[in-house]
Amino acid sequence: MDLIETIKQMGVVGAGGAGFPTYVKLGNQVEIVIANGTECEPLLFHDKYILEFHGEDVVRGWELVLQATGAKKGIIALKKKHTPIVHQMESMIEGRKNLSLALLDDFYPAGDEQILVNMVTGRVVSQGQLPPTVGCLVSNVETLRNIYLASLGKPVTRRTLTCIGEIKNPSVVNARIGMSIQGVIDVCGGAKVEDPVVIVGGPMMGSIERDLNAPVTKTMTGLIVLPPHHFLIQKKSMSMSWVVKQSKAACCQCTYCTELCPRYLLGHELYPHKIMRSINFGLDVPPEVVESAFLCSECGLCEVFACPMDLSPRMVNHAIKTSLIESNYRPQLSVKRKGNRVNDLINRKIPVSRIKERLQIRQYDQPDLTSVFETNPTRVEVLLQQHLGPPSIPVVKVGDQVTEGALLADIPPGSWGAKIHASITGQVTLVNQERVIITG
Ligand code: SF4
Ligand code: SF4
Repeated sequence: MDLIETIKQMGVVGAGGAGFPTYVKLGNQVEIVIANGTECEPLLFHDKYILEFHGEDVVRGWELVLQATGAKKGIIALKKKHTPIVHQMESMIEGRKNLSLALLDDFYPAGDEQILVNMVTGRVVSQGQLPPTVGCLVSNVETLRNIYLASLGKPVTRRTLTCIGEIKNPSVVNARIGMSIQGVIDVCGGAKVEDPVVIVGGPMMGSIERDLNAPVTKTMTGLIVLPPHHFLIQKKSMSMSWVVKQSKAACCQCTYCTELCPRYLLGHELYPHKIMRSINFGLDVPPEVVESAFLCSECGLCEVFACPMDLSPRMVNHAIKTSLIESNYRPQLSVKRKGNRVNDLINRKIPVSRIKERLQIRQYDQPDLTSVFETNPTRVEVLLQQHLGPPSIPVVKVGDQVTEGALLADIPPGSWGAKIHASITGQVTLVNQERVIITG
């Protein structure tokens, strides 16, 4: 079986957060494979752990991807500040002439695929396009490790994530897919506050989860446990009607949201201040302004850092995208560029330290986090949609006995997607269109 078919069988998807099926991504032939070890969201440390303790697996997966895509060169992007990891990776790739390191400052969003391609190669991905159009493929370090494990016949059944915040023992956790968020918190000694609220993902791009019984998925990068009154929870809880009302009342059209927007600085025709201006006229906006919302990566810099009036162009863009997708509208984004503003991008890199201040999360920072917890749940609730693409189709029924690694759900015929495997050994106790429950 070739590598791409093996990766498909083993259910590997992008672990950086998007969940794009990796076998589809690896169908591209490229010149350069960029291993993304930048982990630019504050408070997340699991990629650092993977590089430190499983670096050889990452390098082996990276080399497999180079072979599969015909790439001549591999570059691993790391933060300069992680000196021991930089030295470790230097020694691991010593003598491999096609592999090298790119060392980046500690800025946000260094890990954004399109920003990373530019910082590492100087190339600019046109708006609405993906890195293979400029000969590059970007893969997160956990995905590369999963590719290596897949080549050994091991399907994706665990998720390495950071559990941090108001928690007794902040840690990296090797969580079984489908175990509950509460189960992960318990493994870390429990929450230190009453009625904790969890941000799933990083503090910038993550979303609020109030149901602590919600299951861990393949794309869950972090669990940030906070008190319900924390600034970040309040900010992420704002309703869209409130955001629009505030925008109408307070947007002074200063253009800072555009001037600091990383995608605008790459030369993409995204002007968040114009979108904000347009919502002042009741969301009756010109089509080209509406479509430009699709160019937004939702990095959150505009709302957290740029806007002096505490408004959220990110949420407005998200709402426009959601409503257009729900009405089956497909944007016709032009790929042409009017020239980039990359020099400005380099000069306007926003330090992660400033973001921590703005988000009021500095007290939770644990740059030397070294503890790692394994997990052993007796019940898992495995979602059938943990990836981009349609939900997977169950291949098990209630009463079946499954062993860890057994196939639970397959890719729908004629479609692309991801296979899903059992993360524990036990009996299937529920199957429906959304989930499979296994009780050990
Ligand atoms: S969230 Fe804001 S800063 Fe980030 S890409 Fe979108 S508009 Fe630009
Ligand atoms: S930064 Fe804020 S106030 Fe200025 S244009 Fe953007 S949304 Fe309006």
